[in-house]
Amino acid sequence: MTAQLDQTGPGTDDPGHHPDDTEHRIRRKGGELTVRVRQLHDTSDGGTILLFGPVADGCLVRIHSRCLYGDVLQSDDCDCGPELDKAMDLIQAEGAGVLIYLEQEGRGSGLIAKARGLRYSERHGVDTFTSYRELDYPLDCRSYAPVAAALRELGLRSVRLLTNNPEKMAAVAQAGIAVEPVQLITVPRSERARAYMQSKREFRGHWLPEFRVDPAAALPPDALPAAGTCAHPAGVVPATG
Ligand SMILES: [Zn+2]
Repeated sequence: MTAQLDQTGPGTDDPGHHPDDTEHRIRRKGGELTVRVRQLHDTSDGGTILLFGPVADGCLVRIHSRCLYGDVLQSDDCDCGPELDKAMDLIQAEGAGVLIYLEQEGRGSGLIAKARGLRYSERHGVDTFTSYRELDYPLDCRSYAPVAAALRELGLRSVRLLTNNPEKMAAVAQAGIAVEPVQLITVPRSERARAYMQSKREFRGHWLPEFRVDPAAALPPDALPAAGTCAHPAGVVPATG
């Protein structure tokens, strides 16, 4: 499988110092760094490559599969959101790194499959890998070969990969890039997240320790409006009828 970038690769010797017409500043958690954006095209998922700061050999790289619930809705049910947040914290602390955001929702099967899997898990008390199997979805149909090829096209010959996933490590290494793993350990915020992380250890061989849930890490319920109610700014009257 091949990958194509929508910008001409920066060459093989100096991956970090090729400004392009997407370069701009981004502010996050009180800090600021520059970012350049590239589109990853491949025959399956596609994704976006964000180049933060002066990217160079040995830089931090996070290959992140899209999780709408975890990344955007801050769901406590999985570790995707905290992993992405921590990866960005580390990249930001170094002032440089690469985030590749892959459109690989639901372990590559999409959000509908993921929703069906979660529903099956709720109804039958099984993990989502078992649910996928029962529903005839592949346990995990993601490929990291295109993104590994894209890293190679960027001119990177060595990276520190922010991951607990041995498949990502292997894909990057197979692209001819020297790769050092940097584990991303987060504390599960719910029993469901703990169970999911346990499943990733068992079914996909992720480098994760046994966890205990830290409910204090979850958003406190009293920070949310009560179920069935809706907060309205003062002076704004909700439409009725
Ligand atoms: Zn998730």
